[in-house]
Amino acid sequence: MGLPSDAPVLVEIPSKALAPGDLLQVRLHAPSPIGRVESSFIEQPVRFYPMGDGRRWEALAGVDLEVKPGLYSLTGTVWMSDGRSKRLKKSLRVLPKKFPIQRIRVRQKYVTLNQRDSERAAREHRQLTEIWESATAQRLWAKPFVRPVSSKLTSGFGRRRIVNGEPRSPHSGVDLKATTGTPIRAANSGRVVMAKDLFFAGKTIILDHGLGLYTVYAHCSKMHAKPGDPVGQGEIIGEVGATGRVTGPHLHWACRINGARVNPLDLTTLMSAPDGGR
Ligand SMILES: [Zn+2]
Repeated sequence: MGLPSDAPVLVEIPSKALAPGDLLQVRLHAPSPIGRVESSFIEQPVRFYPMGDGRRWEALAGVDLEVKPGLYSLTGTVWMSDGRSKRLKKSLRVLPKKFPIQRIRVRQKYVTLNQRDSERAAREHRQLTEIWESATAQRLWAKPFVRPVSSKLTSGFGRRRIVNGEPRSPHSGVDLKATTGTPIRAANSGRVVMAKDLFFAGKTIILDHGLGLYTVYAHCSKMHAKPGDPVGQGEIIGEVGATGRVTGPHLHWACRINGARVNPLDLTTLMSAPDGGR
């Protein structure tokens, strides 16, 4: 782009004002090729990957569903290929967002847990936390993200939930209405990290897309993938069902980026495919 080599590294955030639950795409534009980037945002690592000739790097970052509104900074260090380093800092404001309250009724065993179920739920919660806190060093996706089932939205992301009259954690995904048996497609390429019957989420498949990005497919009737399987974008990994804590058949689709719970629909509206726009 003809920038002098002592020019700063530009940070481009194409998103509008940020709100809790937002996924954002960050771009770096450097005067010469970048060798390595270390960065963080709201106490989470931001994992950049190179594009084209290495002067443009990109990353996905998340604002967790329950982040408090305020001013945050994306900070870090960029090491140029020639050995010099540059500091990175970009302030971003997270605006307050009001999520609607939703009251649902489910079988009481999912609200008042007996000791066995309560221990199981706690164990599964720890297993999931371990997954969210780990990251595969390579980016495993390349194409744009797609919706796992084509259906209209039935229950929105972030709703504050009252289950059988008791407050529960906010809705961390979107519910896509579909009949039992509808094929579920992988939103993008990656590797299966979990295919398991969970107490709350029912039969659940989790895909690792690399760089701390995961997508979750819950309440399946059938799972057609097992841990370790590589999957391609659009590949059928399971079928819609009503297993776990549900009011009826649907796909609960969720996304984690370096631990942050973000709206999975944001994946499908990223400004370009990671390999596009060179
Ligand atoms: Zn859901």
